[in-house]
Order: sequence, then C-alpha cells, then structure tokens
Amino acid sequence: MFGFFRRRRRARLRAKPFPTVWRNHLERNVGWYSVLEPAERTKLEGDLAIFLTEKNWEGCAGLVITDEIKVTIAAQASLLSLAWKDFHFDAVISILVYPAAYRAKGREEFGDALPTERVGEAFGRETVVLSWRDSRADARGARDGRNVVLHEFAHILDMEDGLPDGVPHLNSDSLRATWRTCIHREIERMQQSLLARRGTLLDPYAVESPPEFFAVATESFFELALDFQREMPEFYRLMSDYYGQDPARRWPAPGETESENAADNDQGAEGLWPIR
Ligand SMILES: [Zn+2]
Repeated sequence: MFGFFRRRRRARLRAKPFPTVWRNHLERNVGWYSVLEPAERTKLEGDLAIFLTEKNWEGCAGLVITDEIKVTIAAQASLLSLAWKDFHFDAVISILVYPAAYRAKGREEFGDALPTERVGEAFGRETVVLSWRDSRADARGARDGRNVVLHEFAHILDMEDGLPDGVPHLNSDSLRATWRTCIHREIERMQQSLLARRGTLLDPYAVESPPEFFAVATESFFELALDFQREMPEFYRLMSDYYGQDPARRWPAPGETESENAADNDQGAEGLWPIR
C-alpha cells in the first residue's frame, strides 16, 4: 500500500510544472545542464523534484537551507541516475550541508599534522554531508573532474549491494569479476604513474582504495568523459553500461581545455586534497 501512495505522489511531483526559479538555479550553477538533450532535462527535472521533496535537508554551522542549495545538490545526484527508471536514492534519508569545508570531529586518522578538513562524506547509506561552497563550485566547473556531490553519491551507489568495495550493484557475478579486475588494474597503473611522477587523469586520491577509486572515477566519467574514454576504454565501457550514459557524446571534440585539465591534476600528487 505504501508503495502505491509513494508512486502516486512521485507521479504528481513529476507532472508538476518545473518552477522557473529552479531552472534559473540549474542554468547558473550546473555546468553540464546545458549539454543535456531536452528529454534528459525533463527526466532530470522530474527526478530532482522528487529527490528535493523526499530528503530531509539540514543546514549545519548556521547555514540556512535555500532552494538554490537543494536544487543544485539534487540535480547532481539525479545526474547519476538519469538513465534509470524509478531510482531516487531511497536509502538516503538526510542531506547535511555545511557552508564550506568543515572539520570532522574525533576522526584524526592522520594525527595532528594533517587537517581533517572535509568537503563531503557519506555516513553509511543514510546520510550525505556536503560543503555548500564546494558543491556549488564543483557544479559550476563541469569539466574539471572534481565534483564532491557526484563523489559522495557514488559512494552511496557503491554501498547499494551492502559492500563498500568499489563495485556497485551489478547484474551478474561475471560482470562483478570483470569490474573488480578492471579497477584493480587501473589502480595499479595509476600507482605506477604517481611513483614515476607522471600526471594522472584521476585525482590521486583515487588510489586510496577501490571505493575511493570508483567515487573519483565517477567524477571524471561525467566531467572528463573524452579523456576517460581515451585513457581507460574498458573501464569507460563498464561505467557507461552501469550508468546507462555515454557522457563523451555530450561534449564537443577534445580540445585544449581537457588536456590542460588532465595536466592540472598533477598538482594533486603531493598536495593536500581534502578528505572525501
Ligand atoms: Zn570518498
């Protein structure tokens, strides 16, 4: 019975006209919104309205939650599920938003020498914590391979099958095995590049663990799709099958911008990337 009411409520939300002011937020804050096909925009807007309405939004450290915050964050989560029918991150109950990067209390994994500053994290499957400043900046910079909202919601997808292991919910054991082999090979390749002090397409934080690799790879799959496809064709195909999207087709042919971005990622090898 609950499912029936929920489906009906969702159908109503999807059918409601999308508020112009929300669309203005998308146009101003979400860089990739302009490259979506009209049908994709309609799907995104429906999913966004459902996500925005169903989640519990909490402002932290004095932040007052606005429609702009909800629309910008909900749009990015909804990009991940753009090709999926009736998927609304049901496991996620609350989105906690800080004004900017925040300090994680009682989690001094690295001792006092390094900051425990965070721009986002996923607590189990139920809570996602985000810095608003970073969420908005990352949404606006849609082609730099950094996007904290995509990153945290990729962690949520990774945990959908119960295990945070870098392998999301897939349909068969053989596909899971192929996926696992592929990401371990890519992690190894990336570790070798970092040792040789060569630039890497993905943020070096990806080599921390398979779950971080999947979350970081998701950022670049959507934002640096052409480079991703060129550098990791097999993994691009697996990601493309999983997300049901081919973001390389959304962007114009590779140009200066993408190679510059890939080179920029160099600086992360020894920089202090915030923990995500
Ligand atoms: Zn992470």
